[in-house]
Amino acid sequence: MLKQIGRFTIVLKQRKEVLLLIIKTRTIPAELELLRYLKGRKKVSEKIENKIITLEKGYIGETMFDQRMEALSLECLIIDDLLLETNDTHYQIDSILTAQRKIHIFEVKNFEGDYVVNGDCWHSLSSGKEIKNPLLQLSRCESLFRQLLHQLGSNLIVEGHLVFMNPEFYLYQVPPNLPIIFPSQLTRFIGSLNAQPSRMTERHQVLAKKLLSLHIKKSPFSIVPEYNFDGLERGILCSVCWSGFMESESQYKLVCRKCGGAEDIETAVIRSTKELNQLFPNMRITTKTVFDWCKTVKDKRTIRRILANNYNYVSLGKHSYYEFKE
Ligand SMILES: [Zn+2]
Repeated sequence: MLKQIGRFTIVLKQRKEVLLLIIKTRTIPAELELLRYLKGRKKVSEKIENKIITLEKGYIGETMFDQRMEALSLECLIIDDLLLETNDTHYQIDSILTAQRKIHIFEVKNFEGDYVVNGDCWHSLSSGKEIKNPLLQLSRCESLFRQLLHQLGSNLIVEGHLVFMNPEFYLYQVPPNLPIIFPSQLTRFIGSLNAQPSRMTERHQVLAKKLLSLHIKKSPFSIVPEYNFDGLERGILCSVCWSGFMESESQYKLVCRKCGGAEDIETAVIRSTKELNQLFPNMRITTKTVFDWCKTVKDKRTIRRILANNYNYVSLGKHSYYEFKE
């Protein structure tokens, strides 16, 4: 069952008669989408390339975590990917699980390779470089979130967990009392949650909705380089490899020059129009702009037909444009 609360789609999963899971589902981070577009259409710095790799990897880890959490069978509320601000500080929580007496917050990492812990310092064994201590990041989030709950009048206990998802990750010299869940421990952890009695009340739901309403959409952490319309290569970017452009294979089908990924023209044009809107939110969607942007489609009438079928037309004479359907 899908339910709309503000701009969030809530998935209500009712299993047997005891379980109610409310989820704000995870979507591809907006920053990752923007950077993928820019990298496909212009030369970007090595810093941006590395950022894309980090974001892609992080997103894969979080998706793996979500899949594993589907084994939960206790009555609880789950909110994924929440960006909050408490005491003028922004922080992101990968996943929040509200049970009857406790709120679990999860920081999910997709690290790969060997690392070593030395007090508060974490090092990669292969490069020898020190990395940001993820436990400090977790405890900072935990503390801010606890303050937020207090401000919201909730007395639920907050428990933070640092979860590693990659089976190719190993951490040396780690004391056993740290709030870490390794890949081989996740099933047991989920089992221990499932074993606890938990009932969701109106109060839990009100709190979850309040937290959703506090979500900040635009991340202050994003590092998107400057760009403008003329500085970007036009064409329909492939949604499989994000580095090749699509070419017409037949009247209705496009194929990527680079990876061979195929897509029908209508889906590709709608996708590219959404991309144009994400890159240039203030630009009006017109047949001319989309025709110019997509380049690959040689017939303007095809673009007009696709836009007319999928968007609302706002008639303003020569200033007419299309609007996304709500
Ligand atoms: Zn491709």
